[in-house]
Amino acid sequence: MATTRVLHRSLRETPPKAIGGEGIWLIREDGRKVLDASGGAAVSCLGHQHPRVLEAMAKQASKLAYAHTAFFSSEAAETLADHLVGHEPGGLAYTYFVSGGSEAIEAAIKIARQYFIEVGEPKRAHFIARRQSYHGNTLGALSAGGNAWRREPYAPLLSPSFSHVTPAFAYHEKRDSESEADFIARLAAELDAEFLRLGPDTVAGFIAEPVVGATAGAVTAPEGYFRAVREICDRHGALLILDEVMCGMGRTGTMHAWEQEGVAPDIQAVAKGLGGGYQPIGAMLTTNRIVDAIRQGSGAFQHGHTYLGHPMACAAALEVQRVIAEENLLDRVKELGKHLERRLIERFGNHRHIGDIRGRGLFQAIELVEDRATRKSFDPGLKLHQKIKAAAFEGGLGCYPSGGAADGKNGDHVLLAPPYICTPADIDMIVDRLGSAVDSALKSAGH
Ligand code: PLP
Repeated sequence: MATTRVLHRSLRETPPKAIGGEGIWLIREDGRKVLDASGGAAVSCLGHQHPRVLEAMAKQASKLAYAHTAFFSSEAAETLADHLVGHEPGGLAYTYFVSGGSEAIEAAIKIARQYFIEVGEPKRAHFIARRQSYHGNTLGALSAGGNAWRREPYAPLLSPSFSHVTPAFAYHEKRDSESEADFIARLAAELDAEFLRLGPDTVAGFIAEPVVGATAGAVTAPEGYFRAVREICDRHGALLILDEVMCGMGRTGTMHAWEQEGVAPDIQAVAKGLGGGYQPIGAMLTTNRIVDAIRQGSGAFQHGHTYLGHPMACAAALEVQRVIAEENLLDRVKELGKHLERRLIERFGNHRHIGDIRGRGLFQAIELVEDRATRKSFDPGLKLHQKIKAAAFEGGLGCYPSGGAADGKNGDHVLLAPPYICTPADIDMIVDRLGSAVDSALKSAGH
């Protein structure tokens, strides 16, 4: 007799029920509190049960919960779109509201493809992305992603229209003999060669996360990498598609992570921090150039979902974004990010099994290694990341450990993405609890 009819992520273990939340805390059914140091998967940017967001949701629910976008727009969707792109950041001028990150990526891929059909370049049907990336779990997004273990079982179903190049992941990919400039030049040459191999006039776009999230753990690119990538896309007439599902909406200290890279995308995907978990919502953002081409061509983006522009989701996201703006939370993310980095360095900088501490803003990670000198990862069979997750949870800390950081199979890292509303003392508690969890997991793994 099944004890649960829910198909949980693990079919061997049923997770405890969460019965409440308050700010940075989640409350388990047994009453124990868990400090949500990763906002689930970098979602809960305002923490839990934020009164302003709850009130906005209640107000919207009392007016109108849903109206299909084949017939209606809604005040919530219009106002949220104005808030996000009314000032045309980086030239992004339109939004397409979906229900999460994978849907935002699917929309990004499809609008890029349709744009080239509309402008008379139908041969452009190929996308280049990077290894060690994650763009979502639907088949198009999974085809785009370069996360080896997530792709493996579905490989026969994935589209051959996507190919992958080396990520800008200096800790594992930069050779000791290379300067940062040499490394960027090598990656740029590889990307350029991939355009040439495919035929530059067959490539629709290059897809990348400005700061790589769950797959590799808060990996920032060396300064200048994204400018080099932008130049290559422009030279070959392809679009730059940035996936800010995890790193966007303020997580790295600016509303968009690309603001710190000196480039802007043609198409962008956002989700997680957009609605902060209060409602499922994601968005694809794009430019006048792309929308005008479609308007003057077929007149409609040939795509759609039942829950596009859902009024409840848009109302919740609008209030999340208003709180971020009105409470100057981006400045707070920058300051707290520096504090988090300092504390991580103090705690783990000399730790014999922490090889790298990296990230930006409130988006940081530590990577575990067996040997710091050679950067050799632990045997994946030890499942160290799972041990850390379990030890942290037992110690009242929610964080986001994963395996495969180095190459899709080897490498353990722990990602932190605390809420923007936390205090320096909360950060101290996060680092203390993480330190204990890491040490106890290493001990139980025989290290
Ligand atoms: N893109 C990135 C960078 C992500 O981190 C994720 C989710 O973790 C996705 C896309 C997919 O988003 P979702 O899980 O909301 O479909």
